[in-house]
Amino acid sequence: MRKPIIAGNWKMFKTNKEAAAFAEEVKGQAAVEGVESVICAPYTALATLVEAVKGTGIQVGAQNIHWEDNGAFTGEISGEMLKELGVTYVIIGHSERRQYFGETDETVNKRTKAAFKHGLTPIVCVGEKLEEREAGRTKDVCREQTVKALEGLSAEQVAQAVIAYEPVWAIGTGKSSTAEDANEVISYIRELVKEQAGAEAAAAVRIQYGGSVKPNNIKEYMAKEDIDGALVGGASLEPASYLQLVEGA
Ligand code: PGA
Repeated sequence: MRKPIIAGNWKMFKTNKEAAAFAEEVKGQAAVEGVESVICAPYTALATLVEAVKGTGIQVGAQNIHWEDNGAFTGEISGEMLKELGVTYVIIGHSERRQYFGETDETVNKRTKAAFKHGLTPIVCVGEKLEEREAGRTKDVCREQTVKALEGLSAEQVAQAVIAYEPVWAIGTGKSSTAEDANEVISYIRELVKEQAGAEAAAAVRIQYGGSVKPNNIKEYMAKEDIDGALVGGASLEPASYLQLVEGA
């Protein structure tokens, strides 16, 4: 009943022109029945990309959102601005934001609420660092981040959200989590959602795995019961590899 979702996270890659060229290359091939496909691009490429992917089955996401609609917040972008462009998804709380830009569980929660306020679907990222995993704290960290991110949301909103479990040590390292380990943590996150928002929301919320997902390992993750897709960085940048990921899902 949960529709698989592949989301490409382009991070700070691709100029406006490069984004348009990507869309041109995947045209006519990116629509796979029963799979949702999203590209989360830099702000500067969003308007172009929304136009360029029309009719391709690809949706466009941003990589962050501010919680206010407007105001004196130099360098920030609001939900209203994203919505007007035709953006439908937004990544929130990526570990790079948490690590380098002071993102906290509290700001993740505010941004998640802002996404819903503007009719955008949040892709909320959670996941443990290497030292936390080695200290046996993986589930504690995921509990803290998940519970705080979803605080104050209605059960309907939680049901519509996407959560991405991304162990920090697996991001961009080529060291992906095994499908078994990823599924175990994701099942645990689904249990947490059940405690917090009820059984219906837990059954509906889509939870992705992220961290060194490639065309050659996507099927292992998709075969697991609780994994509903992937958030993919590096392997989403090349048209051919992105298409293989969507097909693999
Ligand atoms: P990666 O990045 O696929 O390059 O490991 C994943 C992410 O940061 O979302």
